[in-house]
Amino acid sequence: MDRAAQGFNQSDIVNNNRLVLLQLLCRQGVCPRVKLARQAGLKQSTVTNITAEFIRWGLVQETGFLTGSKGRRSIGISLNNDDFGILAVCLARTWFTVTVFNLSVSPLEQRRFEIPGDQSAEETFSLLCTAAETIVKDHAPRRILACGMSVPGPYSFINNRIALMTGTTGWDAIPLRNVLRERLGIPVFTEQDANCGALAQYWLNPDFYSTLLLAYVAVGQGVGAGIIDSGRLIRGGLGMTGEIGHSSINFEGPPCTCGNRGCLENYCSSTAFTRMVNEALQPAVPLSFNDAASLLRSGNETVMALFLTLCDRLGAGIVNLINTFNPNVIILGDELTHVMPDLMLRQVREYVSLHCIPELKENTRIEKSLVAKDSFAHGAALTALGEIFSHLTDYFAPPEEEEKEERL
Ligand SMILES: [Zn+2]
Repeated sequence: MDRAAQGFNQSDIVNNNRLVLLQLLCRQGVCPRVKLARQAGLKQSTVTNITAEFIRWGLVQETGFLTGSKGRRSIGISLNNDDFGILAVCLARTWFTVTVFNLSVSPLEQRRFEIPGDQSAEETFSLLCTAAETIVKDHAPRRILACGMSVPGPYSFINNRIALMTGTTGWDAIPLRNVLRERLGIPVFTEQDANCGALAQYWLNPDFYSTLLLAYVAVGQGVGAGIIDSGRLIRGGLGMTGEIGHSSINFEGPPCTCGNRGCLENYCSSTAFTRMVNEALQPAVPLSFNDAASLLRSGNETVMALFLTLCDRLGAGIVNLINTFNPNVIILGDELTHVMPDLMLRQVREYVSLHCIPELKENTRIEKSLVAKDSFAHGAALTALGEIFSHLTDYFAPPEEEEKEERL
């Protein structure tokens, strides 16, 4: 392609305005047109025209009169949460979920499935496709517009493949998006789990709406980061930005399956935590992650000491992240951060304050996730919704077509 810059055609501008208005409605629930115009920085006539189109498509509905601060009455509008939905599929190393959301990204139903250790990637993916098909059928006649899928990284967005899933094999051979699209018959959009987490934090926490650079660090069965710059994900060449789990904090450390040594996720993932607790306690029957988490909550001294060291190592990874991207906000989320969130936050903040460039540390907020625990599923739904909302005429008849049909 011989393109040196990105220009905007009229249709791009219309698509962007539609997206902005639908995202505002998604965040606000019921809202009058005048408020939408003010918040989007658009003329009221533009908002009136676009919302008329939404109402014709059935995406938006009028909800009756609202009374404003000066006693003025105006008609409120909201997304149509009764007739449409979005499917979110969330794949992790040991489980997957399928969830139906409404257009305001509220979950309507979630089904969870465990993945046995000896089950092949192919078999798991086939079960996942069946579970996705079944939940879509069970929610008929609700029209499921699209499916968003959250996958563990490193995931190559460009090549549509999981490049590596530590501790498993076979996933790199499956073209996830294409197969799922064929099975479901609706558009499917895949996104790396940490990116989904970042989208959920950015869109669902009003505190972060205007954050310039937000980083979400997923500390689960692996470790990865999703980074949002002015509302957009930073993807990188292959879409694999944010693989901090495979950045080294010890170049003489143990070898990792990625080819590096001393990778962060081998020191501070929930998988690493479970392994360290088992190595230290040597129980007759190996402890699961939940067993190790219970011991930590009950105050077991050995487990507590291991956890605090783990938090320091996570802190070392976060210092690298701060020095590389200079985020305004870093949010810690996923499995391991839910065990003792306040203790982890305190320990990580302390480590960062001792090891980070002072000016950077003073201007970086580190927080725990305040949105739903399954922010990957929410982010997967937001991914699909963002794609649909920004290309509406691919899914709904444009006005000319409707007029033509009426004339016929
Ligand atoms: Zn690695």
